Amino acid sequence: MTRTGWGYDSHRFIKGRRLVLGGVLVPFEKGLKGHSDADVLLHAVIDAVLGACALGDIGTLFPDTDPRFKDVSSLFLLREAVRLVSKRFSIRHIDVTLLAEAPRLGPYRQRIRAKVARAAGLPVEDVSVKAKTNEGMGFVGRREGLAAAAVATVEDRPRRR
Ligand code: MG
Repeated sequence: MTRTGWGYDSHRFIKGRRLVLGGVLVPFEKGLKGHSDADVLLHAVIDAVLGACALGDIGTLFPDTDPRFKDVSSLFLLREAVRLVSKRFSIRHIDVTLLAEAPRLGPYRQRIRAKVARAAGLPVEDVSVKAKTNEGMGFVGRREGLAAAAVATVEDRPRRR
């Protein structure tokens, strides 16, 4: 059976932190606040993957009260989530959209695709990374932070007898 999961995340900008999006360091005047590296794009992807498999969410799997996940790379969290779901499911496709007035993702898009694909064990052709502005509206429009939404498609692995 084919199953689809949806993931969403948002993080607030803060000064004095590096901005990491899709596992790629993006030069910018601010970073995102969070317990891990606050990679909002990867957090949406992780929740989409977990959601497709009905295996909970990023907050229950990697609680922000756990010192092991302090400042951790979200690529590590994605690989852990993929390892968990791969026991029963095969990931087929990921599509993620970043909502940001700035920075522009264009120059980093292909590198992000490659990072997500590698962590998810997918060919790069099966990973889509997009970005849009929020047309100046809401918290993204006011440049208070960033948001991301993702879908993931998975298939059941045939059960062994
Ligand atoms: Mg998050």
